[in-house]
Parts: sequence; structure tokens; C-alpha cells
Amino acid sequence: MNKVKNSYEDGVCPDCQEDIPDDIVEGGECSNCGHVFYELVKTLIFTCPECGSKDLGSVERVTVIYPIKKIRIDGDLDYDTENTIEENGEVQFYGCQGCGFSLRDDNDITITDCLKVPVWVEKHCKQE
Ligand SMILES: [Zn+2]
Ligand SMILES: [Zn+2]
Repeated sequence: MNKVKNSYEDGVCPDCQEDIPDDIVEGGECSNCGHVFYELVKTLIFTCPECGSKDLGSVERVTVIYPIKKIRIDGDLDYDTENTIEENGEVQFYGCQGCGFSLRDDNDITITDCLKVPVWVEKHCKQE
């Protein structure tokens, strides 16, 4: 089944009810009315089991490099703060922004893999 077509009720265009072609791609248009089709991805709602907050954050450690412009002999280095280099963040944990509660898997290991977040949320948070 085509995932984009599958995102629409009865596989038809919501504007003109024209049948969506089976080979429709993300961003493809309805040949009849020009409606643009997208794959609708289901989203989940996080609810903190400790405090009820709905704000989940990815707590990451980011390495920042400040280029040094001048190496002063007294060790008071002159940094080029305009041109900092930020490297990709490394996830430390996924945590509630209200109380700091962190997501842990069934083996009580802190979750750092984004693919495990929806699995955890689906299991622990009531979805409306
Ligand atoms: Zn249409
Ligand atoms: Zn919380």
C-alpha cells in the first residue's frame, strides 16, 4: 500500500474526491485540482508520569569550539567568539522539562535512542 495514499480517507483527494493514483509520491499533486499530498505521520503525546507535564526535552551535550585569535603570553587567550563551531549534540537523556524525570527502558537503562522514544511514550502515556 502506498503510504501517501494510505494517509487519506478512502484513498481519495480531500478536496475533489478524485481517486489518488497508487504511485503518488510525497508532495505529488492531484491531477484534477492540484491538491498536494503528504504522508500523514501519527504523532504521540508525552505526559510525564511524575508531574503531568507535557514538555519533553532532548538533553544533549554539545561540544563548542572557540577559535583562538591570539595566544597571549600571560595565558589570557583571545577568543573569536563570533565564529564558534558547534559540533553535533550527543543525547544524554530524554527528560521531562517540568521535573527532570528521564525516560528509561524496561531494563532501567536511560534511553538515548530517538527510535525508542515513541515506543516508550506509547507504552507509558495515555493517548487521547
Ligand atoms: Zn483533487
Ligand atoms: Zn515531570
